[in-house]
Amino acid sequence: MSLFDVYPLFDVTLEKAKGIHVYDDNNQQYLDLYGGHAVISIGHGHPNYINALKGQMDKIGFYSNSVQNPVQERLAKDLIELSSCKDYQLFMCNSGAEANENALKLASFHTGKKKVVAFKNGFHGRTSAAVAVTDNPKIIAPINAQQDVELVELGDTKGLENILKQGDVCAVIIEFIQGVGGLDQGTAAFFEATDTLCKTYGACLIADEVQAGFGRSGQFFAFQNYKVTPEIISMAKGMGNGFPVGGVLIHPNIKASYGLLGTTFGGNHLACAATLAVIETLKEEKLMHHALQMETYFRNQAQNLKGLKAIKGRGLMLGLEFDFPIATLRKRLIFEHHIFTGSAKNPNVIRILPPLNIQKTHIEQLVNALQTLL
Ligand code: PLP
Repeated sequence: MSLFDVYPLFDVTLEKAKGIHVYDDNNQQYLDLYGGHAVISIGHGHPNYINALKGQMDKIGFYSNSVQNPVQERLAKDLIELSSCKDYQLFMCNSGAEANENALKLASFHTGKKKVVAFKNGFHGRTSAAVAVTDNPKIIAPINAQQDVELVELGDTKGLENILKQGDVCAVIIEFIQGVGGLDQGTAAFFEATDTLCKTYGACLIADEVQAGFGRSGQFFAFQNYKVTPEIISMAKGMGNGFPVGGVLIHPNIKASYGLLGTTFGGNHLACAATLAVIETLKEEKLMHHALQMETYFRNQAQNLKGLKAIKGRGLMLGLEFDFPIATLRKRLIFEHHIFTGSAKNPNVIRILPPLNIQKTHIEQLVNALQTLL
């Protein structure tokens, strides 16, 4: 039996990982500035993470959401405290797409409406409603196309209001820093107007923090750089540092009722232990503050690279936009300099999504490699 061939793979086989590095089957070390797609937040094999998972495994790894789960309760408390999202409620699931699926469903239940506004070049996942609000026709199957979705240009406040004032929109879903699209951001004025318009016309603002959240932008959530109050916040990726876990934070205006949402695996003991270890480490190692310091250093070091048009993004969710397609450059970084980076829908952007405890020397290693290759 063969694997369903949907991924173009680099010919690298990873066997182990520690901190900012991964190692292949010949024990070749690679610098990981990609974090397996923004997932590794506190570093590979962090002792807090390993101890939390081992400790939990020794007690109980899984049980369904039919009994009390104190680990989930503790997580809700610690998460609300670190994120400053006071009084929000936590629902846990298993991935980013599933978090957005639940977010959209909740917005629809709450408002009794079904149209969603999303933004051009946005990415929200590959499942039913999540893929329908993603700007990529290639991954939207006919079965997904039945959803009622309008895509608006980032920054087009007028266009957004024209749709919202028709009164049939349940949610506006937005990435405060676009990830897959290529690190574009709206202005503060646009984000704040979007929030006001949602409140005026009775639509839920959904902050998709799947990639930018859990400290990557230098704030716990990227929307916290603005004066906005999302009704729903979706999260995943860095939340579990590699353990598959996702969740939504839900504003107290939205009331729960039995059976409204549900999942078998979501919020299991191991997923909660992994997330608690991430939260503890973000606090202990002051990784959000560190991410901002590393951003400043990165910008200073990288600014004069040949062919560089812009450095996009925030914190340790950064993009180097060149004046040429970067596919070959990215491959040469892996195979000649042993550095992993990410790509984006914008073919000229290299994405930098490292563990948040990256140090200056790792940034220097990338910049030196890029200088040599360019
Ligand atoms: N939302 C954003 C902003 C993402 O970047 C992604 C994945 O890249 C998703 C949602 C989907 O997450 P997952 O792949 O865990 O389903």
